[in-house]
Amino acid sequence: MTDKKQTAVVGSGAGGLTLALLLARAGRRVTLIESQPEIGGYLRRFTRNGVRFDTGYHFSGGYTNIMPQMMRVLGMDDAARADAIANRIVLRQSGDDLTVPARCGYRGAEEAFCRHFPGDAAALHRLFEALREIWRDTPMRDLSDITPPKLEISRYDMITVRDFCDSIALRSTASAAAGSVAMCHGSLPCEATMTFHARVAFALYDDLARPFGGGDPIIAAFKREAAKLGITIRTGTSLRRFDDMDGNGECHLAHLSDGTDLEVDQVFFAVHPLAVQDVLPERAFTPSLCRRLRRQQDSTSFFCSYYTVDDEAELTPGLVSLLSHNDIDAILRGENAYSTGYLLGREADAQGRMRSTVAAFRTMPPGVPEAPATRAGRRDDRRYQEFKARITEEIADDLTQICPELRGRLHPAAAGTPLTCRDYDPPTGSAYGVRNICGQSRLCGRLPVRNFFIAGHSALVPGVMGTMLASFTVFRFALGEEVYRRLIREAGLV
Ligand SMILES: Cc1cc2nc3c(=O)[nH]c(=O)nc-3n(C[C@H](O)[C@H](O)[C@H](O)COP(=O)(O)OP(=O)(O)OC[C@H]3O[C@@H](n4cnc5c(N)ncnc54)[C@H](O)[C@@H]3O)c2cc1C
Repeated sequence: MTDKKQTAVVGSGAGGLTLALLLARAGRRVTLIESQPEIGGYLRRFTRNGVRFDTGYHFSGGYTNIMPQMMRVLGMDDAARADAIANRIVLRQSGDDLTVPARCGYRGAEEAFCRHFPGDAAALHRLFEALREIWRDTPMRDLSDITPPKLEISRYDMITVRDFCDSIALRSTASAAAGSVAMCHGSLPCEATMTFHARVAFALYDDLARPFGGGDPIIAAFKREAAKLGITIRTGTSLRRFDDMDGNGECHLAHLSDGTDLEVDQVFFAVHPLAVQDVLPERAFTPSLCRRLRRQQDSTSFFCSYYTVDDEAELTPGLVSLLSHNDIDAILRGENAYSTGYLLGREADAQGRMRSTVAAFRTMPPGVPEAPATRAGRRDDRRYQEFKARITEEIADDLTQICPELRGRLHPAAAGTPLTCRDYDPPTGSAYGVRNICGQSRLCGRLPVRNFFIAGHSALVPGVMGTMLASFTVFRFALGEEVYRRLIREAGLV
């Protein structure tokens, strides 16, 4: 490695921001490369009618444990604030309507489920025990434990969510209610491993929280720390290609889309695997890598609708999860069934006045049939606009059936489809990247070019928390135990 060489991080979502700060804190000269004009990926927010709305960070688990730990190591303690919220689950097909109260912990969540489904109490107990056991054994979920993570495969890696629920005789209604968090990873219960599902399910049941200010404080804190650490941020550009591998199987010269070159020691990709495939040198494509890439399937994506609400006083922040059908596999395949998450929130507007808002995300496969193959800003196709208006209305109608007090008080502020998401997160627009499928390993760790690593979307746990955790894991693997432990110690975690 020469002094001139940079450690490149590709992609500036939660995963890339985390990697960039970790690498810079470890003493690397970091260049962060982002194809969009702004950094942040799905952490980014936007303003309509003077109010801020989220794109891909509405709620999370982990704010009572792993999130503050990660923020501390990154030097961003100030971005670790969140308020616990309740989760109301409505199953339209069976008429079930139950609420998991805020701050009740996973035991409280189990109690709420058992109260509502008394005939399933024994099975629910076994389900919650499994969730707890899987979370307890999740590598890296407690950064103060610096013993190297075990690499054993657990029995829960070998069973799908559906087969596990069948094995404990959890009936379909209770299974649908308990499985509704599948919308937070977008993989089908009939094919996703229990491990993957349980990690996000446990974190959300234990502590569902609304991050204060969505992704804004994380991006602001990142910019501050990046300036202190001398991280170079290059937006509006991406890696085009690399020179061929050297005798060590490494690539050190990157050509960027803006015509400049970058000498790199290592490259960390925090993007969808298909975006990595575009830039790997030809010799890296072993038949097995090609097979693996071909097998990947997208997770679900969302149609998003945003509303401001009149007479804000009555709206209590919380999550409402509506399932149109009890078959979650059908929902995630988009087979005449859907689920919509409604985040009821309170935001200060540009004048500092508190306003009530609703951000809704309805499951939708990444391809939008009604959408023309156009680019952002040029989608004035009539069919597409009508489609957006229709779904926006349907989403509002569904909510007012569940919360009649909102009737006539919802004002659409914006709407976006998976096509919109594709502009934030090339190349496919799926919410969580690649689907978790039992028997298929995730692409995470070292790539066939020896100095290239991949973290990103849902490698370990889905969502923002999981993406950050995957970056910590890949950083630890790539830079080694000594460097990792130094950072953990410097943060005062041990
Ligand atoms: C509608 C929606 C709602 C969601 N809600 C939640 C939620 O409430 N809570 C939660 O935890 N998660 C949620 N998620 C999921 C969460 O947003 C993602 O899992 C997480 O943000 C992914 O982070 P990332 O860093 O892996 O990727 P991204 O945030 O997608 O960042 C990737 C970045 O890389 C850039 N990029 C891509 N290709 C290249 C390239 N070739 N060169 C340079 N740059 C490139 C992209 O422009 C982007 O900025 C939601 C997702 C969606 C779509």
